[in-house]
Amino acid sequence: MELYNSLIKETAAQYEHLSAKTWDYDPRSQWTSSQNSELVLQKDAAFELGASGKGSANFVLFTSSSELVSKDQVILCGKDLKEIKGDCDFARIVLLRIGVLDDDDEAVYRTLRDIEFAKYHVYPQGYMVRISPESYREQVRVSKDAIRRGISFKALGNNYITAYKQNPTVINATVIFITDPAANYNELKALAKKSSDVTGTLTHILEGLPTDCSVCALKDVCDEVEGMKELHFGVGAGGSAHKH
Ligand code: SF4
Repeated sequence: MELYNSLIKETAAQYEHLSAKTWDYDPRSQWTSSQNSELVLQKDAAFELGASGKGSANFVLFTSSSELVSKDQVILCGKDLKEIKGDCDFARIVLLRIGVLDDDDEAVYRTLRDIEFAKYHVYPQGYMVRISPESYREQVRVSKDAIRRGISFKALGNNYITAYKQNPTVINATVIFITDPAANYNELKALAKKSSDVTGTLTHILEGLPTDCSVCALKDVCDEVEGMKELHFGVGAGGSAHKH
C-alpha cells in the first residue's frame, strides 16, 4: 500500500517546520461523545474552525510503511482550543498505517471504504463538524460550553484515533490538527484533492474499469502516482478488470 507515500512526504513538508505539540494516544483521555452528530447553534458558539473565508483542509492518507507512520499520536501545530479567540484557519489530517497485503486488492478497497466512512462516526460534545467532500474542507463550530469544560485537541485526537482503530486493519493512526496561520492552507487543500483523486482512481480500478490508458479519464492521476498503473494491470492480469 504505497500509493499515498509521496503524499505523506509532501504533507509532512507542509507542517514539519511549524512548531508543534505531540501527545501519545491515550484512550482514557477522550472528550465526551454524543450518540449522533452535534448541533451547536450560532448563539452558543465560541468560534468556528475553518470557517468560510478561512483556510481549511481535511484528508486521510494510507500507508503500510512503519517508517512513515510509526505510532498512535496526536500532533497540534498552532493554538489549542482554549487559546483561540475567534474564527480561524483549520486543517485536520489523518495518517493511517494499515496492515493489508499489497496483493490483496479487494482487502485494500474494503479497508479504504470502511475507513472513509469512519470519519462520520466521531461526535464530540459541543463540537459540530461539517465536512464538505467536494471542497476538501472541514468546518467546525465549537460551543462556549465545551470550551468552559476544557475541550482540547489532545482529547479530540484520542476520540478520532479510537474510532479509526476500531477497524482491525488499522495498525497506527496519527491525527494532525493545524491552526497555525503560517501554514499554507491552499497547498494542504491541493494535497487533500490529490488524496481524494488517488482514492477515487483506486476505487474505479478495483471496480473493474477497463485497462486502456489511452482513453482513460484518470490518466493524469495514474501518470503522477507511482504504482497505480502497476496495480491496475496487476488486477487486469488477475481477471478482476474487464472491458465494457
Ligand atoms: S492505469 Fe490506465 S486504464 Fe487504469 S485507471 Fe490508470 S490511466 Fe486508467
